[in-house]
Amino acid sequence: MEREFDVAGFVDRLQDDGVLPDTCSMVAQPHPADLLAAFQNGERRLVYARYRDSPNAPAYFLVNGTAGDPALRKWVAENLECLISDCPDPRLSLVHRSRSGRRDGFAHRSGSGSHASEGLFHQQAKAMLIAWVDRQYPHINAVPEMPTPLRERRADVMLTWPDGRRAAVEVQYAALTVAAWERRHESYLAEGVTPIWLLGHSGPYLRSARPRSYELPESVAGQVQVQALHEAMTEAGAPVLWVNPLDQSIATPWVCTQVAGRKLAVSVSPGGDRRAHIRVDPLDACRLDPTRGLISPAMDHLARLRAAFADRLAQDATRPLPPPASPRVNAELISTDNAQREKILAQHEVWLASDVRAQFVRMFGEIPELFSKTHAEQDQIEAYPEMWRCILYQALIHGRRLQYLTYDDCFAVLDSHGIDQGPTRRTAIHSFLRHLEEQGILYMPRYGGGAVRIMVLRPLRTLAEGADVLHTDGSAPMTSS
Ligand SMILES: [Zn+2]
Repeated sequence: MEREFDVAGFVDRLQDDGVLPDTCSMVAQPHPADLLAAFQNGERRLVYARYRDSPNAPAYFLVNGTAGDPALRKWVAENLECLISDCPDPRLSLVHRSRSGRRDGFAHRSGSGSHASEGLFHQQAKAMLIAWVDRQYPHINAVPEMPTPLRERRADVMLTWPDGRRAAVEVQYAALTVAAWERRHESYLAEGVTPIWLLGHSGPYLRSARPRSYELPESVAGQVQVQALHEAMTEAGAPVLWVNPLDQSIATPWVCTQVAGRKLAVSVSPGGDRRAHIRVDPLDACRLDPTRGLISPAMDHLARLRAAFADRLAQDATRPLPPPASPRVNAELISTDNAQREKILAQHEVWLASDVRAQFVRMFGEIPELFSKTHAEQDQIEAYPEMWRCILYQALIHGRRLQYLTYDDCFAVLDSHGIDQGPTRRTAIHSFLRHLEEQGILYMPRYGGGAVRIMVLRPLRTLAEGADVLHTDGSAPMTSS
């Protein structure tokens, strides 16, 4: 039987033991919707300026709430100018907006300074990083627009440690193809330079998650859409981070994955749910490492949480999993040719090793029979039948009583797991869903095409919920051979 597990108590214990800092709990931040909205805020202000008499010195940062000081206004007018290099009229004055709840900033003379916001954010993020490194890491040399040793690339900000090791900061507000990103990333690595990618807090790389047809908008509020570039970065081992130069903050994505009925926070992973939560940390709380790049407190926190959960799951692993269902495979193989047999055996191997199978065994004690019943057209979906059915069940039915799903949702879930599907995939899925309907799990209307809404009536109960439907077709539990 699944033991009861108290996630909050577990996190508390880790904090008591000093494994997790108590200032760094994922749940201690404001409501996620407010957090994302604040990080993405639509402010377009100029808050960095350079010194007229030493334009290459680290930029001046205007602290919010200080613009009302008359002495500062005079000093700014005499000493600072716009940091955009080709600005036609770089003279600046202060705008005191904080008394009306907005951000104080600098302003150009009327009629000038209409810089595009993408370039303005990009330049300010660079200015922020150079000033931060200068203040926090005086031994690291931070230089803007510096070429790599072989002059293959020009970093937005190149960081050089006293021993010669280098990291290149790329601030990315503009859209970039995945292929172009991979070329740049690999080019830095090939030259022995650690790439640090900071995606823009505004623009193409930070979008709010869109609810699916069967979800309420508030259920995804505060979450961000995981995009192809984020997945490519994660796959390449490059942390996904967003920068907000106006607030001097860094956002880190995290997703909650169910492991054996528990929730585990891990950093964004390919093939996952395609949404992520964010945690926002002040830049001052981040640190630099010549080989790992920029490390946010959230990244440290996630690493500790992952390690602690891995330990906990290793303790659970002393409880053996039931042996694989080899007799069932043999029955399917009797009437198939060699190529088909090899394909099924390969798919079966993937299934046996999959996390989905391990999760289902922990939830139900065994893979429930209704996932392994033979249906027509199953070879239209390129995965072991139990595997794609369990994936659909987990994504669209488990724990979703009285919510809806569509065939299009099913196709999208299989796509997101990289499972190829043939032209009659709908028939295979229909056959499985009809079987679930016969068990009283779903209600399927008898009309409509790909968008027909199917309602979840009564999901299977897990062991922890007192499962009673392990063997829905009345057969005896399967014994191992
Ligand atoms: Zn300007």
